[in-house]
Amino acid sequence: MSRRRSAATDLEAAAGASLRIVQLGSPVLRLPSRELTDEEIGTPEIRRLVELMRLTMHVAPGVGLAAPQIGLGIRLAVIEDPPEFVKEADEDEEVEGMERTVLPFTVLINPSYQTVGDERRQFFEGCLSMPGYRALVSRHRRVRARWQDLEGRHHNRLFSGWPARIVQHEIDHLDGTVYVDRMDPRSLVCSEAYDEVWADLPLNQVRDALGLSAD
Ligand code: ZN
Repeated sequence: MSRRRSAATDLEAAAGASLRIVQLGSPVLRLPSRELTDEEIGTPEIRRLVELMRLTMHVAPGVGLAAPQIGLGIRLAVIEDPPEFVKEADEDEEVEGMERTVLPFTVLINPSYQTVGDERRQFFEGCLSMPGYRALVSRHRRVRARWQDLEGRHHNRLFSGWPARIVQHEIDHLDGTVYVDRMDPRSLVCSEAYDEVWADLPLNQVRDALGLSAD
């Protein structure tokens, strides 16, 4: 999942080492990915791949990257919303109800999620495989995710708010689902217009201005 671009950083120096991000239209983004076997998890190849995905996510910059986005149909994703991103969002007067909290770097191997409760939240989101656009996507406020880490250990955790959105977005990629499948099509905006007009508006004003009925 993408984030708003900020000032240039020394990460640009690392850009040459990052992987090319597959763009929407590539068939791999529309196929279900296969699980990694216990033998594959934790191999030097997978560890190197995770490091490259981490670097690629940082350079992009993004808060999540799924293996199909680098052309690999395996159930592997990395997520991270570091303190400096969350702090920056605070200073931009975060949109009410986003519940953006720090999400430490996490490797999700063979992940799945189940929704918890009926609460949904609608916010703009973007995708590194479709840069230049954002749209309102309604997602579950809380999900329970299960996954394995690089040691093969099983995890089971409840995510809420913005981290739950990141988890849903990335695991969706492993099922061949992209946010445009879940967006309100009338809310699709170019990033430039998003930054100029929509970024800091409360959601009820966004919906009114776009001619969308309230949830
Ligand atoms: Zn994405």
